[in-house]
Amino acid sequence: MVLDTFRLGGRVALVTGGNRGIGRAIAIALAQAGADIALLGRGDPAETVTAVEELGRRALVVPADLATAGPDQLADAVDAATAGLGRLDILVNNAGIIRRAAAVAHPPEDWDAVLRVDLDAVFHLCQAAGRIMLGQGHGRIVNVASMLSYQGGIRVPSYTAAKHAVVGLTRALANEWAADGVNVNAIAPGYIATDNTAALRDDPDRERAIRERIPAGRWGTPEDLTGAVVFLASDAARYVHGAVLAVDGGWLAR
Ligand code: NAP
Repeated sequence: MVLDTFRLGGRVALVTGGNRGIGRAIAIALAQAGADIALLGRGDPAETVTAVEELGRRALVVPADLATAGPDQLADAVDAATAGLGRLDILVNNAGIIRRAAAVAHPPEDWDAVLRVDLDAVFHLCQAAGRIMLGQGHGRIVNVASMLSYQGGIRVPSYTAAKHAVVGLTRALANEWAADGVNVNAIAPGYIATDNTAALRDDPDRERAIRERIPAGRWGTPEDLTGAVVFLASDAARYVHGAVLAVDGGWLAR
């Protein structure tokens, strides 16, 4: 039955940045669908761990700072998650940062930090997870892109460059890995109320301008994204490769 293809019972998912915001909602939703969850990040994910365990699923914390960890450390983190929970079926590259400064004054350290967390770490985690998934002939990777994978944005050149690249990377990996049962896709969230967008929502003019441009007429919530992620992580998406699923209240359609 088709609803059964969405179930994730017996699967293990690794989610980056699952301690707050969108990542926490994704981790909890994957657990609701039946998966055990490895939480890779630098913050304290105690709240997410509790929520996952209350659902009867296992949670494993894998500490890593994506701004400083190199490819070998990230591969070790993926291996630790796989060993700790016994397998790896799903990777969600959610963690991300944004730095706002005009292009002419964009500090080099901001450029480096954003590219490291939002792009380099995504590639190295895909690479490490891909090796495991290709070996077992099954896997799902969901990268978190953005409206700024399509548009230029204002005063966020490093973030825009990284998020455009995440879409290119998603397609490149999908092409290489589709025939071996590994699906690489992305979601592109619209404007979601989290810490990432606090600066926009604190500016009444920006907040209103954004809200009035969203056909749905409201900002999104992290929970608005979770159905799309569960779908892309599941067998229901077995023939979906290299797709970028916008969950944006209609922003891109306008
Ligand atoms: P958020 O509330 O600011 O959360 C960001 C997450 O990334 C946190 O878990 C954070 O952990 C983690 N992270 C940041 N730097 C890290 C590092 N060096 N090492 C490990 N983890 C790190 O933002 P969000 O809105 O949930 O964003 C999640 C993803 O969605 C990001 O990729 C973002 O670009 C994307 N996105 C968001 C929106 C939106 O409107 N909110 C729209 C499009 C795309 P700490 O707590 O340790 O900092």
